[in-house]
Amino acid sequence: MASPRGFERNRIQRNVLRVAGVVLLLAGAYFLVVGGMQFADDANSSDVDTGFGPVLRLGLGGFLAVFGLAALNAGFLGAQARYAAGETLPVVKDSAEYLSDGEGVLGVGRSAGPFCSGCGVRNDRDARFCDGCGAPLRA
Ligand SMILES: [Zn+2]
Repeated sequence: MASPRGFERNRIQRNVLRVAGVVLLLAGAYFLVVGGMQFADDANSSDVDTGFGPVLRLGLGGFLAVFGLAALNAGFLGAQARYAAGETLPVVKDSAEYLSDGEGVLGVGRSAGPFCSGCGVRNDRDARFCDGCGAPLRA
């Protein structure tokens, strides 16, 4: 686990990324709309000298939007991954152990529990007494 200080620093970074992502997305959307409207206006007019400005704004808008999405990803995806790792995976692992009686499903949830020295039954990792004969298990 990270120290509280490191966690606090990461939290600030995530919030900066989230705010920056929203700002970049809004700016990108603005340039995309303005550039798109100017592009449509230029297409209707016979003046071709100003054609570079709208294209530049459209490109800048797309550029900002992509970076905004990337920043939002970096700000939010980490939290989702941590939630999945902390909440979902242990439940999946326990369910696989339960359903497969400790032998695992496709390698997931394979129990590393001890074999009973008296009857040979394999037991759960945290078992204190044998499932087969009830004898106390040593760790
Ligand atoms: Zn036993």
